Amino acid sequence: MSLTNPELVRESAYINGEWVQARSGNRLPVTNPANGEHLAYVPDMGAEDARIAIQAAEGAWQEWRDRTAKERAGILRRWFDLVMQNQEDLARLMTAEQGKPLAEARGEVGYGGSFIEWFGEEAKRAYGDTIPGHGRDKRILVIKQPIGVVAAITPWNFPVAMITRKVAPALAAGCPVVVKPAEDTPLCALALAALAEEAGVPPGIFNIITCSKDHAPAVGKELTTNPVVRKVSFTGSTPVGKLLMSQASGTVKKVSLELGGNAPFIVFDDADLDAAVAGLMASKYRNTGQTCVCANRIYVQDGVYEAFVEKLKEAVSKMVVGAGLEGETQQGPLINEAALDKVKRHIADATAKGAKVVLGGKAHALGGTFFEPTILTDVSQDMLVASEETFGPVAPLFRFDTEEQAIAMANDSEFGLAAYFYSNDIRRIWHVAEALETGMIGINDGIISTEAAPFGGVKESGLGREGSRYGLDEFMELKYLCLGGM
Ligand code: NAD
Repeated sequence: MSLTNPELVRESAYINGEWVQARSGNRLPVTNPANGEHLAYVPDMGAEDARIAIQAAEGAWQEWRDRTAKERAGILRRWFDLVMQNQEDLARLMTAEQGKPLAEARGEVGYGGSFIEWFGEEAKRAYGDTIPGHGRDKRILVIKQPIGVVAAITPWNFPVAMITRKVAPALAAGCPVVVKPAEDTPLCALALAALAEEAGVPPGIFNIITCSKDHAPAVGKELTTNPVVRKVSFTGSTPVGKLLMSQASGTVKKVSLELGGNAPFIVFDDADLDAAVAGLMASKYRNTGQTCVCANRIYVQDGVYEAFVEKLKEAVSKMVVGAGLEGETQQGPLINEAALDKVKRHIADATAKGAKVVLGGKAHALGGTFFEPTILTDVSQDMLVASEETFGPVAPLFRFDTEEQAIAMANDSEFGLAAYFYSNDIRRIWHVAEALETGMIGINDGIISTEAAPFGGVKESGLGREGSRYGLDEFMELKYLCLGGM
């Protein structure tokens, strides 16, 4: 991994403006999932390190909240500019530790950076309200104030964007943050902190504690039970989200959860099939299928089923699989062996229950955690691919007859993050959009994420929203002022 700015590669955690090791001295290796190459060591911290970071955040808070929104916005703007100036290096670092194709990594740095730019601007617009009083001598005001110390726990699939989507609004609102990045991808998190430091984020306002999978429960427990922390923002799997939520209940913290998805992707008879195939390719195979909003269950109406399978097969068969740093690569490796095992388990379950493999279906000849882009047909609701998030490059195609059937099958899930459908009938577009039980819907569109729109799920996919003007509210409290004797 050669970078123009080698200063971005940090092998220390970042607490109170200092680059530090774990108190235990333990370290955690970071490796490249494409070839197993050792990249760096980062500290393998524990609960005591987390406690120190929380104290640092608390100590730094008052001075940061007292700054004007414009002052905080100026620092965020500098941080954004530095992220974009270092886009290529950050992308290379990301591909090295996470595996996604370099073009996707560049895109993620741009997307991740956009949250810093957006929330710096939004900080200046954290408006309150005046409300007609409930007595002749009374006046009502509502102000917004920063909630306090924020703990953020993030996953490996978007190592930059999942951090900036939480840290930028928190800092904009006037809150300090302690971040625990995923064990597989700590280097991007530390590089972001190095750039934030350079941009002038004061010591204690943005802290990063790194740790292994083994220490994550203890660190997570400290972050969710320490009374100083007032807000927990988590992105990751639903079981871990539920655990963190229950831990946070002891001190009644505000909790935001961006959890697993199981997105339905519905293609109606009246759809533009080429557009639907292009949308599915982007939604399904991006990041090797390892995105929370990834199309997981593809429902295709009877009348276009065969034609859709043929067009999809043609598109998928052209995909280039390889290491992310290689120029032509469109699909990189899976993140680790556990991810590979899950994909294999889902395909074995589906084929045992009658699904047919139209394309792929097995480990890729490149070895390691590379897997062939896969299409399954004759899929039914009793298969694991219907009920669980596969998190891999597998497109299972279900068949349906009526609009009502499609809606019922799509809603037959405890998840409710994203959904997609393709139709050119305006009545159907309204009806289906209103009936689907998800927080986000792509209508004739396979890529929906943007800093300007509220991202989040319903049902067991989560609580709260990230991005947009709603994303700032997650880090603020409302305070009602009643002025009497007026
Ligand atoms: P994960 O839940 O295993 O890990 C996420 C983070 O939680 C990591 O930092 C991990 O170290 C930490 N963690 C694990 N156990 C913990 C514990 N007991 N206490 C505290 N922290 C703990 O999830 P993952 O496999 O890394 O990520 C994939 C999941 O994330 C998928 O389900 C995906 O859908 C979801 N995701 C959701 C969104 C969204 O916005 N809804 C975005 C990206 C990923």
